[in-house]
Amino acid sequence: MIPRISHSENTPQIVQSFLAKLRNSNFSGDIQHDYASRLVTATDNSIYQVLPQAVVFPKNYKEIQAVLKIADQQQFRHSIKITPRGGGTGTNGQSLTEGIVLDCSRYMNRILETNLKEGWVRVEPGVVLDQLNEHLAQKNVFFAPDLSPSNRATLGGMVNTDACGKGSRIYGRTSDHVLELSCILSNGEVLESVPLDTEKLNSYKRKSGITGEVFKVVDRVVLEKADLIEEVFPKMNRFMTGYNLAKVYSNAEKKFNLNYLLSGSEGTLAIVSEAKLRLTALPKHKLLLVVKYEDFDDALRDAEILLENDPAAIETIDEKILSLAKEDEIYLKIKDFIADESGKSGKKFRPTRTISLIEFCGNNRKNLEKQVSALCKIIDAKKNKSGEATGYYRTSDPQEIKDLWSLRKKGVGLLGNTKGERKPLPFVEDTAVPPENLAGYIREFRKLLESYGLEYAMFGHVDVGCLHVRPALDLKNPDEEAWIRELSDKVVTLVKKYGGVMWSEHGRGFRSEYTADFFGKELHQDLRRIKEAFDPDNRLNPGKIVTPLSKNADKVVPLEGPLRGHKDRQIAPVLLKEYESAINCNGNGACFDYLPANVMCPSS
Ligand SMILES: Cc1cc2nc3c(=O)[nH]c(=O)nc-3n(C[C@H](O)[C@H](O)[C@H](O)COP(=O)(O)OP(=O)(O)OC[C@H]3O[C@@H](n4cnc5c(N)ncnc54)[C@H](O)[C@@H]3O)c2cc1C
Ligand code: SF4
Repeated sequence: MIPRISHSENTPQIVQSFLAKLRNSNFSGDIQHDYASRLVTATDNSIYQVLPQAVVFPKNYKEIQAVLKIADQQQFRHSIKITPRGGGTGTNGQSLTEGIVLDCSRYMNRILETNLKEGWVRVEPGVVLDQLNEHLAQKNVFFAPDLSPSNRATLGGMVNTDACGKGSRIYGRTSDHVLELSCILSNGEVLESVPLDTEKLNSYKRKSGITGEVFKVVDRVVLEKADLIEEVFPKMNRFMTGYNLAKVYSNAEKKFNLNYLLSGSEGTLAIVSEAKLRLTALPKHKLLLVVKYEDFDDALRDAEILLENDPAAIETIDEKILSLAKEDEIYLKIKDFIADESGKSGKKFRPTRTISLIEFCGNNRKNLEKQVSALCKIIDAKKNKSGEATGYYRTSDPQEIKDLWSLRKKGVGLLGNTKGERKPLPFVEDTAVPPENLAGYIREFRKLLESYGLEYAMFGHVDVGCLHVRPALDLKNPDEEAWIRELSDKVVTLVKKYGGVMWSEHGRGFRSEYTADFFGKELHQDLRRIKEAFDPDNRLNPGKIVTPLSKNADKVVPLEGPLRGHKDRQIAPVLLKEYESAINCNGNGACFDYLPANVMCPSS
């Protein structure tokens, strides 16, 4: 028999009344408040676990509107809270809530229109990135922002975390590819967000209701605080999100563009019901260079030189992930490309402990070959010296390139297989600093973790100074739980010292209390002013990013959780052992693949 933890969290009466009212409206989607459905959405890839009161699955924008209109009725106004959810792959608990989850992935996953002539596509928020790119592949275009869980992360989630990944150096972030957003506001109003010239902006400001208020407040804040915004926002590829005040006017069109503010707002301002997205021509050729190192620091130091050759991406993977990969099916496919440099012909044996994947893409094959050859020459000239790359593997074979990137994409799933009670965890994992500061920053970061006797895994986008660091902790142990706070505070200080940002692509979620540390007190109040304009009752994903200005009693969610470790602690050791593979699930959602036939993640 499968053991169970007893639970007493029933859905409150007011929520049941709300759901009954929704059911009696024209809502045709699913409404679930059984324990199993709630439990499925109680976790994501973060260290947190929060049981929602219910989950609703709308089928179209009118049904999202119905949810919010009913929630805005007097009897529900102060009790019903709604948090949108896509693939649930967030690493900071962004989609977790004690309120009601509004799931956009089950039904609202249609690609509505593709216009190749004008280079755009219109999608519902639950469309998965790989689903979209598969649809576009035959047409020689793609949606450029990439991210590792591309087979399950949705466009709604990507817009709301302003996601990006491999290739962001040349392609930018999701917000750079958003043309229009259709949104439902906290009271059910529909907002069509497009870049606006002054005349159109003024007409939006004159609108009644929340819409008019939003345009008035945001325009006032970004104009009045322009100098402060310029001073506070770091000038980095991985700019600051939630809320991105810096780009409302400073964008390519030089128009008032609310889409930049909505992107990365983590479902706290509006629910995206449709997005019109820019398409990019697929490059005709891709070349990949796998550069091997004995030490992670060598790879970081090398990144600056490699960048001079202008690759599309440099991604680095550490020894921890490489050694875990040896037990995965992917290893058979890529092992020859990352083999140790043998000690033959009098040369020293040099093990591969870190690799950098360096991708070049473009339409002129000859130029690409030249670029790669120039880089290989640099590596060849130094490769016998210690502290330098030990060798490389060069390929233009699409299958080999796919397999090598697949190793990178599987990284987080592989970490679930780490032996022992301590598991690599995300809580200080997506900091970014200017790339030229990365090596020094990581040296201090490692020293900090080593002072706690902690092991860790590192991987990420070194070309843009963003490195994912997952320290291995056992959160069943209350002493180690306390380190979440200690380490987070220390990393905040360290990131600031190196001129970086604490959230560079994975959003803020349960780290919202650090908002004022990075925006400063004054802009923090302005963010709250903006939240107030959009969501005066703090209905949308409450506790994330900021609270409305007038709601001083409302707090952001605490860093301390509720943690998943609090639940795991209650399970008897013998059962922890017996159900080890389930316990090892780190919630990265590989089982949520939009293609059900695909392989689940390696920790299962
Ligand atoms: C293994 C792994 C690797 C990752 N690698 C990357 C990476 O390379 N780059 C990167 O950027 N991220 C990465 N992430 C983080 C995560 O995948 C991204 O944040 C992703 O954009 C989340 O998409 P989702 O559909 O899972 O959204 P969810 O996690 O479900 O939601 C994310 C946020 O968006 C909000 N939201 C969702 N849908 C809507 C909507 N329709 N309207 C309004 N708000 C909405 C939610 O409320 C929440 O705040 C990784 C995560 C994992 C597990
Ligand atoms: S595939 Fe298994 S281990 Fe991976 S996220 Fe899903 S349930 Fe967890």
